[in-house]
Amino acid sequence: MIDLHCHTRESDGTDTPHALVELAAASGISTLSITDHDTFAGYDATVAHAAGLGVELICGVELSCRHEEKTVHLLGYFPGPAGAPAAFRDWVAGILASRTERNRKLIEKLNGMGIDITLEEVQAIGGSVTGRPHFANVLVAKGHATDRNDAFRRLIGEEGAAFVERIGPTLAEAASRIQESGGVSSLAHPVRIGYFREPEKELALMAELRESGLSAVEVYHSDHTAALSERYLEFAQLLGLLQTGGSDYHGGNKPGLRLGAVPVPNSVLEGLRSVGF
Ligand code: AMP
Ligand code: FE
Ligand code: FE
Ligand code: ZN
Repeated sequence: MIDLHCHTRESDGTDTPHALVELAAASGISTLSITDHDTFAGYDATVAHAAGLGVELICGVELSCRHEEKTVHLLGYFPGPAGAPAAFRDWVAGILASRTERNRKLIEKLNGMGIDITLEEVQAIGGSVTGRPHFANVLVAKGHATDRNDAFRRLIGEEGAAFVERIGPTLAEAASRIQESGGVSSLAHPVRIGYFREPEKELALMAELRESGLSAVEVYHSDHTAALSERYLEFAQLLGLLQTGGSDYHGGNKPGLRLGAVPVPNSVLEGLRSVGF
């Protein structure tokens, strides 16, 4: 089995990187990529351990990028045991710093609304990356929201009263950085871009991004119906792009979604092998 999209507690999952690779081995996954948001900490901490368990661990990351007025996720995969090169890691560290700045502003806004919450409290429950899911958990635990959805809807989500926008790279910029760094970028869960009712817009975006260095499309994902996966496979083949796929497992932060839950065909790995993985 193959799973090229999952998260550990270094970003917004709940498993430690160590527990995740052990779960992968126990689940019969032979090739895994940890794609935490904005950090390689999980990969770095487990690359040796995974090898010992017979799990091939591919260095990966998921970046939140700007495209028009939307936030679109882009996956990056890097071949070889060292994974992403130092210059790319430095660039990602800059993205992480802008996230910390956003988090400070988010705390200020929440405090301004009379909500008692500190950055230290939120950072304490996260790993290398502190994201809004951690804010949601603290808001619920302190009784400021009834559940995580309520926290996003009323407070920290795009329509929420305390929402703070985070300035990330554009999709084109991120795709070209990944390509320059010897990696493969993949347009994550394309259904979530919101153009799924207008397939021609999806295809046009993929074609446009290919010019910036996009290498792949995430065809197989837990948010995709079989019909959508078929559509994205067709688009990828039409444009000569590689395919990737995975569950987007987040542990307890996405209850009911198992690691390896999304079948990913071997052809995905064969495609990656053909470009040096
Ligand atoms: P951040 O990168 O810190 O801005 O947080 C983004 C993450 O928050 C996304 O990857 C989702 O996991 C989660 N998220 C965003 N919007 C919502 C929502 N409305 N409900 C639940 N989770 C959300
Ligand atoms: Fe996530
Ligand atoms: Fe994502
Ligand atoms: Zn993800």
